[in-house]
Amino acid sequence: MEILKSCPCCGSKNYVMSPAFIFPFVSNRIFGQPTIELEKSNLTDIDLRKTLVGTFTFKCGKCYYMGNAIRYSQEQMELLYKGYRDKSYNEERIIFEPSYKERITNLEAQYPYLKEVEKFIEDNTKNIRSILDLGGGSGINCPFRTSKKHSCWVYDLSPCKLVKDIVHWSKNEERRNFDLINCSNVLEHVPSLEDFIKNEILNLDFKYLYIEVPNHEPEKNPTHDVIKKGWHEHINFFTKNSLISLFEKHSLIVIASKFFPEKKEARSTGILLERSS
Ligand SMILES: [Zn+2]
Repeated sequence: MEILKSCPCCGSKNYVMSPAFIFPFVSNRIFGQPTIELEKSNLTDIDLRKTLVGTFTFKCGKCYYMGNAIRYSQEQMELLYKGYRDKSYNEERIIFEPSYKERITNLEAQYPYLKEVEKFIEDNTKNIRSILDLGGGSGINCPFRTSKKHSCWVYDLSPCKLVKDIVHWSKNEERRNFDLINCSNVLEHVPSLEDFIKNEILNLDFKYLYIEVPNHEPEKNPTHDVIKKGWHEHINFFTKNSLISLFEKHSLIVIASKFFPEKKEARSTGILLERSS
């Protein structure tokens, strides 16, 4: 487990740290402890029973990236995501977060703006036929999955029943070249962004990369400029500038970006990158 000491996107050391907490479901999974339970102290009249497990919020003063300052280790990530969204995971989470029961169906549905994403990719690229959905779960949100002109694969650490028109891809397979890598709603969960880009993205052969993350652009929505107090499974909040800084270090050039859906309050930020050869 490490603590951020510079911005993981732009590298700036110009940042602020603010006190924050880790949500009980997450601290229970990772540390085996949902809250800190203390007796009322003789030295103070503050009742510290059921204090939440603490962390800090890191906010970059240059690109406005914001994240949980504590970066979980690989082992801790495995504890957090073990059986992700399976029956026992859902039951455990509902104990801490009763409203999760109602949210599960929405979390597993197709994005209502997927056609907009497909049009955005089509308008800004050439000759896309093969697509790998990296971290795509069931593959339900893989662009062009239902088009007969494209071939789609999905790679995900959590074994998951796939939807129609997409097949599993594994690291042992010979095929490593794709026209497009789709990495949608993954980066906000990743503690080591550099390792993820180097080990999971750059060792594939591809021309285009589509990245989508929840929208936290202060310019688009000023309420997103508020410094977060609590951290759950999303540990990275990106602005468009922070994503550009993150990828340009690896010779990935942003060719277009867009907020989705177009006509309502923007829920996601999508950026399309091209690998320079
Ligand atoms: Zn930054």
